[in-house]
Amino acid sequence: MRVLKFGGTSVGSAERMQALVSLINDDVPKIVVLSAMSGTTNHLVEIANALYAKENDKAKHLIDALEKKYFDVIKQLYKSENSLTKAKELIESHFNYLRSFTMDMFTVNEERAILAQGELLSTAMFHYHLEEINIDSVLLPALNFMRIDENEEPDMKYIEQNAKTELANYPNKKLFITQGYICRNAFGEIDNLKRGGSDYTATIIGAAIQSDEIQIWTDIDGMHNNDPRIVDKTHPIAELSFDEAAELAYFGAKILHPTCILPAQMRNIPVRLLNTMQPQAKGTVITSKSTGDGTKAVAAKDGITAISIKSGRMLLAYGFLRAVFEIFERYKTPIDMITTSEVAVSLTIDNTTNLDAITNELKEFCSVKTEKDLTIVCIVGNFTAEKQGYAFKIFDALKNIPIRMISYGGSPNNVSILVDSKLKKDTLVALNKGLF
Ligand code: ADP
Ligand code: ASP
Ligand code: MG
Repeated sequence: MRVLKFGGTSVGSAERMQALVSLINDDVPKIVVLSAMSGTTNHLVEIANALYAKENDKAKHLIDALEKKYFDVIKQLYKSENSLTKAKELIESHFNYLRSFTMDMFTVNEERAILAQGELLSTAMFHYHLEEINIDSVLLPALNFMRIDENEEPDMKYIEQNAKTELANYPNKKLFITQGYICRNAFGEIDNLKRGGSDYTATIIGAAIQSDEIQIWTDIDGMHNNDPRIVDKTHPIAELSFDEAAELAYFGAKILHPTCILPAQMRNIPVRLLNTMQPQAKGTVITSKSTGDGTKAVAAKDGITAISIKSGRMLLAYGFLRAVFEIFERYKTPIDMITTSEVAVSLTIDNTTNLDAITNELKEFCSVKTEKDLTIVCIVGNFTAEKQGYAFKIFDALKNIPIRMISYGGSPNNVSILVDSKLKKDTLVALNKGLF
């Protein structure tokens, strides 16, 4: 069984949905994971924000506008009156559901239910389209088997069991459609895998059913060597290892959800990144194999806060770092980068929810300085310890960029530097010039 995920642009219009059929209509048994139509989740976020702010008129306006878009899409998508009527009813039921929130209390649970509507709509609409053109398929509700645990991690055991049970209900079927992004949480409520989470759905399902390949279909021909939204003249990379791809995804390469590589890596399932607009292009294949030497790609992650900790007591002392890390652990705040000297530690976080509480506790035994609006630029490749010159090339390229922190040697695949976010573009461009 193969898993194919199609992102927002790949289902972004009636035309795109129709074009998608030729990519999935063969004899290979498959699960097709769909995102919401592009723009929908952002629009739903706006609706939720208006409801939080009790701006109910604004929310109604936004709901009406989005509904109209969907009515326009179905007019182009379906040929028969029968399909069109069914799709109209589908859209009305989802949008009336959204309207019901304008009369009610609004909490984070309602917000998550709202955010789930995009994937529920796109999958049902595509399923109706397949029905209309006589392609047999099954719509599998992701909410029946996708679940996260109390730590918001995928509950792999539950997912594996329940996905297999769902599939076993249809022993003679070959084509399954399901929603990306959405899931239930440990309390059984509707939840999601965070923005861009459909990639994660695909790799989680791929791992759960031990699929032979996971394909992520998007609007670009694979993982590029630099951020194509910021830098000109980037190119696709044919092969990446799981470790390399995971670093790039985590450090900002938007083409992949930050943590989606892990489930595939755990079960050693190749991940292929492909372009729906250019299906013949080779794309990128991600496997356990690491090929090539030196720098392969660069990515950048914004919204980073640096915390610098200094203490005379650190000198020649053991247990100091443990005391520091324990505080971050207690506040469930992951640390991205870290550098130390004999009397000071600097580290970075991106989740600042508990920043005040963390710094208050740190201040009990050391001096603390924080700095916001920073960017981690991550340089990924094969930097074997035995070879010389990698660091020189990187820092030569960056000779005109003020660097706040450097992390090298943590893994043979990554060099990370921390810069002011205002210098992100300059940094990416300088690296493109100097390294590729
Ligand atoms: P989808 O809706 O299919 O999930 P995304 O917008 O999430 O698509 O991801 C694809 C986009 O990621 C590309 O259009 C590109 O602009 C952006 N991107 C950022 N960094 C990279 C990179 N290193 N390689 C390829 N694409 C990247
Ligand atoms: N629709 C969700 C989002 O826009 C999930 C995804 O597209 O991967 O974030
Ligand atoms: Mg995406």
